[in-house]
Amino acid sequence: MRRTLYEAEHEDYRGVVRTFVEKEISPHIAAWNEAGIVPRELYAAAGAQGLFGIAIPEQYGGAGVEDFRFNNVVLEEMAAAGVASAALGLTLHTDICLPYFLTLTTDEQKERWLPGIASGELITAVAMTEPAIGSDLASMRTTALRDGDDYVVNGSKTFITNGINADLVITAVKTDPSERHRGMSLVVLERGMPGFERGRNLDKLGQHAQDTAELFFSDVRVPATNLLGEVGQGFRHLTANLPQERLSIAGYGVAAARAALDWTVSYVQERTAFGAPIAALQNTRFRLAELSTEVDVAQAYLDACVLALNAGELTAADAAKAKWWCTELQGRATDLGVQLHGGYGYMSEYPIGQAWADARITRIYGGTTEIMKEVVGRDLLGR
Ligand SMILES: Cc1cc2nc3c(=O)[nH]c(=O)nc-3n(C[C@H](O)[C@H](O)[C@H](O)COP(=O)(O)OP(=O)(O)OC[C@H]3O[C@@H](n4cnc5c(N)ncnc54)[C@H](O)[C@@H]3O)c2cc1C
Repeated sequence: MRRTLYEAEHEDYRGVVRTFVEKEISPHIAAWNEAGIVPRELYAAAGAQGLFGIAIPEQYGGAGVEDFRFNNVVLEEMAAAGVASAALGLTLHTDICLPYFLTLTTDEQKERWLPGIASGELITAVAMTEPAIGSDLASMRTTALRDGDDYVVNGSKTFITNGINADLVITAVKTDPSERHRGMSLVVLERGMPGFERGRNLDKLGQHAQDTAELFFSDVRVPATNLLGEVGQGFRHLTANLPQERLSIAGYGVAAARAALDWTVSYVQERTAFGAPIAALQNTRFRLAELSTEVDVAQAYLDACVLALNAGELTAADAAKAKWWCTELQGRATDLGVQLHGGYGYMSEYPIGQAWADARITRIYGGTTEIMKEVVGRDLLGR
């Protein structure tokens, strides 16, 4: 089905992104998956290509264009190339962390951080999850207690994407541990602050090139000038940014489902069984027809959400619907793809197997499917 989301400038940008992926990511992805991390130079290369700066104001080294369609093009190209494990950190930097630095920063903070974020010299992360809490964020235990001109941060975080590579970590803390939501604030922890240590680069089932790490804070003195937004408003700031985060994960989900469909459509026409292509079997045709329909329907909703985000109208409930539906679809699509590839689907040399393993987490991070349904249910019915 012809999509009406994009204009010529987005398609031109797609060409830039595709060339970048072909030259800078695809040749190295196997080695990075082996290493469990991408090199920091990837960020500098992406910055030099202008992939990070689109939404950053010109005075800080960007293009000053707020249009999530450009972000969505990046998600689509990365998914089509099957490089999820390298893509996640890059899209976390632009789609998920950057909005905090654009909307919650003072002029002084913008001067300090935005040029490095645009160029890729400063890599970003966001740390909410702790070893004992994930979904129930307001129960977090990491504290930041005011002492003179500093906050003193103690606690730990886990499962943090870009955890090893990050220079700036937006960290959710309790500035008032006696409160739940109202006690939360956001502070930026920087590489090299005494008492800020990284733990293991965690060993995962998929997304191997993505560094996912534990972070430990022991009496880290963070200047009050690194507070993001208002004291006690951390939960509100997080929830304001979550729709875009969830839309980014959903956008990747649909794009990954489409990639799984495309790879499988090619494969079943080449592979034969019982003297005919797998594509000639009615089961294959029906299953792929169902998947193709689901992808097109999901795409229409996703595209509407992208336009709603651009218009400042994407609600938390609508983003939650996109997130759970599109990532569950990604799971179904990659699973069917593996099945129709037979044994080859389970081999890492075929992109479908890697995409299947990489897909499993998208139903969990950024808020689980169950939590997304809670968000939608509360919107419909109240608490
Ligand atoms: C690879 C990876 C990358 C990640 N990146 C980041 C990151 O960059 N930053 C960050 O802060 N976090 C990150 N996370 C953490 C991720 O967001 C959490 O794992 C996720 O939010 C779920 O939290 P949890 O693991 O504590 O699960 P739990 O909250 O313990 O949930 C366990 C199960 O209980 C269910 N459940 C919980 N509450 C309810 C409820 N009210 N109703 C129904 N069911 C419920 C959940 O849906 C789930 O099925 C990452 C995780 C992974 C694995």
